Amino acid sequence: MSKLAIIALDGPSGVGKSTTAKQVAQRLGWDYLDTGAMYRATALALQRAGVELSDWKALEQELASLRIDQRGSRTLLGEEDVSDLIRTPEITKLVTPVSANARVREVLVEQQQTIGRRGGWVVDGRDIGTVVFPSACCKIFLTASKESRARRRHLEQQTKRIGTAMTLEDVLADLQRRDHADSTRAASPLRQAEDAVALDSSDMTLEAVVAWVVQHHREHG
Ligand code: C5P
Repeated sequence: MSKLAIIALDGPSGVGKSTTAKQVAQRLGWDYLDTGAMYRATALALQRAGVELSDWKALEQELASLRIDQRGSRTLLGEEDVSDLIRTPEITKLVTPVSANARVREVLVEQQQTIGRRGGWVVDGRDIGTVVFPSACCKIFLTASKESRARRRHLEQQTKRIGTAMTLEDVLADLQRRDHADSTRAASPLRQAEDAVALDSSDMTLEAVVAWVVQHHREHG
């Protein structure tokens, strides 16, 4: 299988994949695709349309009219910039069952494959190295202890004032809920690809993680 110029960055929630991916893309002059934002925008669209996942006909209709775009780090649903709306705790809860739906995954994976087909992308998610781009030239599975992920996520929420204030315990409980749901679902569960390299970033700064990924790509990509 010939390799595609894609850096696949997978891992659990709150590990810093998107910030890392964005900076790696900037350093390489590549584009960045945030697949989590696509699942979040889909959850928002379904919520707005009042579509239940069990109503396959309505789901199919909504998926057929779904238009999600990414411009830099902004996410558009149709013409609307929904970047902040998709980060609320409400959507963070709603996205779990939406992303576990096999039909939703089929549609979004196809869109992701179309976007990245020529290469030159840093893509972050849960199934990038296993399902979306199995021929990616560089696969990294980013991990960190749940305590350090919760601390970082909590700090980020306080700094950016995203949604209603959550305590550190709430953030930790939410991460554990999502870890469990993402790893145990039937459709494309979160797991490390056999040919991915794992990096534990618990005690690393963001700069060190970015430098590690860039270096790894230069040596092995
Ligand atoms: O990465 P982020 O936390 O924004 O992703 C939101 C949700 O979308 C995750 O909790 C996960 O359930 C789902 N997701 C997924 N597959 C991806 C990216 C995200 O299932 N490739």
